[in-house]
Amino acid sequence: MPEETMFSKIIRHEIPATILFQDERITAFADINAQAPTHILIVPNKIIPTVNDVTPADEADLGHMFVVAAKLAKEQGIAEQGYRLIVNCGPDGGQEVYHLHMHLLGGRRLGRMLKMN
Ligand code: AMP
Repeated sequence: MPEETMFSKIIRHEIPATILFQDERITAFADINAQAPTHILIVPNKIIPTVNDVTPADEADLGHMFVVAAKLAKEQGIAEQGYRLIVNCGPDGGQEVYHLHMHLLGGRRLGRMLKMN
């Protein structure tokens, strides 16, 4: 069994979080350290530590994450202006929490995707 992170506790409502969507497959909640006016994390309820651990059995959950991202972007009023979806993987990818998650960021101009330095 992969190791639990605080995201499992959020999914089980054991620690506080602003949950914006939840069903049997995924949970979406506000990032505690928002980097933009809208910053939501969309996570599979099942623990998948990183993208490297994804298997074909996860395809439905991962596809559903995009469907919910689009729904939340509409609800947040950022769909027309645009937004960014990010999935960090491993140390070089800047991943801090080892429970796969998609960042939904928007509500301001986000600029270039990567700083070229
Ligand atoms: P990453 O660097 O892609 O692993 O992103 C982890 C994200 O989780 C960061 O943006 C954190 O601000 C966020 N985060 C960590 N702990 C919590 C928490 N308890 N509730 C909400 N967001 C969190």
